[in-house]
Amino acid sequence: MKRAIISDIHSNLEALEAVLEDIHQQGISEVYCLGDIVGYGPNPRECLEKVMELDVCILGNHDEAVLFLPEDFNLVALRAIVWSRDQLKGRHGESAAAIRHQDFLGELPRIHTEGDFMFVHGSPREPTNEYVFRDDVYYGPKMEALFDRIKRYCFQGHTHIPGLFIRREFFSPEEFNFQYRLTDEKVMINVGSVGQPRDRDPRACYVLLIDDQVTFRRVEYDIDTTVKKIYAIEDLENSLGDRLRDGR
Ligand code: ZN
Repeated sequence: MKRAIISDIHSNLEALEAVLEDIHQQGISEVYCLGDIVGYGPNPRECLEKVMELDVCILGNHDEAVLFLPEDFNLVALRAIVWSRDQLKGRHGESAAAIRHQDFLGELPRIHTEGDFMFVHGSPREPTNEYVFRDDVYYGPKMEALFDRIKRYCFQGHTHIPGLFIRREFFSPEEFNFQYRLTDEKVMINVGSVGQPRDRDPRACYVLLIDDQVTFRRVEYDIDTTVKKIYAIEDLENSLGDRLRDGR
């Protein structure tokens, strides 16, 4: 097995292109995406086009929100979602591309499983919307319920914070030198975010899975270009650009 797992692109084309190039340079052609292709960033259509070429893609909560009525979003995120929806629909009625994009999003699965492997956006319990944060390890019943639902390995995104949940503990990638070998032990692996990292490292984040070896990778990209695009779009708050520079 030789594959890359990416998540939470959030319409950040520069970050997505840099990550896909890094994946290509590792000699890997199979790419799985754990959702949130759109939302927050300036290039929803371009990012969708690229993700449509990948091998597997899961539905994220922002992808769902551009299709249906959004709930549970703050104002900044909601405005970006409404703007993204307009971008995908086009100004002058439904174009062929717009219909293709919406069909693609509408058919995305919430869970993908392969033997011992499970792939979700949020959590094994509520695959699209539930967050699993590092502090959840202090809440035993939640962790138990989540681990009960996985056969062995669960890959997820949604929090934009990469790391591993093992035995009710959380480990950031630095704590295991960015490398983890899968064993018989159950583990939830958060692959981090391509387009809006929130662990104070602004570089794009993703994971390689080669046989039983999980490797977290960080990739620099042209943040300035993305930030300038966000500043130029009125419906995207400037704070959405500023946070990219800080990785938060
Ligand atoms: Zn996200």
